Amino acid sequence: MTVMPAQVELPGTLDCLVIGGGLLGSAVSYYLAKAGARVRLAERAQLNSAASSQNAGSLHFQLEYRMIENGPEAARKAAEAMPLHLDAQHAWSGLEAELGMPVGVSQHGGFMVAESPEQLNTLEQKVLLERASGLEVELLDGEQVRRRAPYLSERILGAAFCAKEGKADPRRCVLAYAAAAARLGARIDSGLGVSALNYEQGVWRVYFSDGSECRARTLAITAGAWSGRVAAMAGISLPVSPVALTMTTTVRTQPMISHLIQHAGRRLSLKQTGDGNILIGGGWPARLRHTEGVIDLDRRPELLLNSLTGNMSAALAVFPELKKVSILRVWTGTTALVSDQLPLLGELPKSHGIYIATGGSAFTLGPTYARLLVERILGRPASLDITPFDPRRFGSLTLA
Ligand SMILES: Cc1cc2nc3c(=O)[nH]c(=O)nc-3n(C[C@H](O)[C@H](O)[C@H](O)COP(=O)(O)OP(=O)(O)OC[C@H]3O[C@@H](n4cnc5c(N)ncnc54)[C@H](O)[C@@H]3O)c2cc1C
Repeated sequence: MTVMPAQVELPGTLDCLVIGGGLLGSAVSYYLAKAGARVRLAERAQLNSAASSQNAGSLHFQLEYRMIENGPEAARKAAEAMPLHLDAQHAWSGLEAELGMPVGVSQHGGFMVAESPEQLNTLEQKVLLERASGLEVELLDGEQVRRRAPYLSERILGAAFCAKEGKADPRRCVLAYAAAAARLGARIDSGLGVSALNYEQGVWRVYFSDGSECRARTLAITAGAWSGRVAAMAGISLPVSPVALTMTTTVRTQPMISHLIQHAGRRLSLKQTGDGNILIGGGWPARLRHTEGVIDLDRRPELLLNSLTGNMSAALAVFPELKKVSILRVWTGTTALVSDQLPLLGELPKSHGIYIATGGSAFTLGPTYARLLVERILGRPASLDITPFDPRRFGSLTLA
């Protein structure tokens, strides 16, 4: 259990108000507090109540299926984020020591499997791109794969293997970051939504859902699928869309799967948690709900039967023993994707100090995004070049 330290009072002007208490918001608050900044996090619901707890917990450093399914040019574009993947491998390895708490990190390696010669060819091209960016990844034939992972099907002709891939526990990471941030003096408020933003006399005046307000020199938008709505409060239009996805878990069972499994030709991610549940996902869509013709992000997306059967069929093809394990629960969740599929990371143009981190695989890359964003907020030298992800690539986003 994560124990949240007593809250501090933070009168006067904050260095940063962080908006949204998922993985990014709690991690940004932590790195800011660690640097000595006066920081407050406002989460309108409960901490970790959205995508950061609904996700598959995969730590995937290889290019994902969604990044390679649209051909070599799209894969090359996605590989621009590979320096973030390399950083994230190390960030996760050291995270439990950094936060002083277990967050279920296990990095026993991940396979991206192929069932056809075409998929093997895709894997070869993918591995060339990844190696050119510095990712250590092996190409294995079917027998080599089954020697390392005897539970995988005879249908698998080969796989790319990345030794640092694995999983973390989405139920623990946010609370561990938030508790560590609070210990360092950050104020963490849940049940407190940001409802309006106004730039006055060189600072941001922030209005909260309970009628209170505060002032902050900078704002960090870490509101996931709601990021566009928060930015719109400041008259800024973001190229960010909500995407609804499906996840399934089995009942607990004996240890069967020790790796992260992804697929080069189908949507699939497969792993077993430390508690024994097998988690099955990989990007199968759900349907966003609408209220009065407008997307309603406050309602859970609708489960699509085709997604469930498609996901199960991909999982059974790769891991036949799954047929002996009962499904416990299926759920949907909503994540945020940027229109060019790359992260959106940095200061919004002409915004008077509004920063954003969203898009992409923001669980795997969350600790990295957060640390890099904090360098920007504090005006410190960048430890990694994040110009490819700078919001300015979309030109002027400011409407007001
Ligand atoms: C089903 C599913 C599976 C996924 N699997 C993986 C995976 O295996 N690996 C991976 O890397 N990524 C995965 N992702 C993506 C990943 O979960 C997200 O990219 C990541 O969790 C985003 O974190 P976040 O902190 O930006 O957003 P969130 O966790 O969504 O948090 C945003 C928070 O902002 C709050 N908020 C919104 N508006 C306001 C406001 N006005 N005031 C205050 N607070 C506000 C919300 O209540 C919410 O708590 C998956 C996503 C889903 C949905």
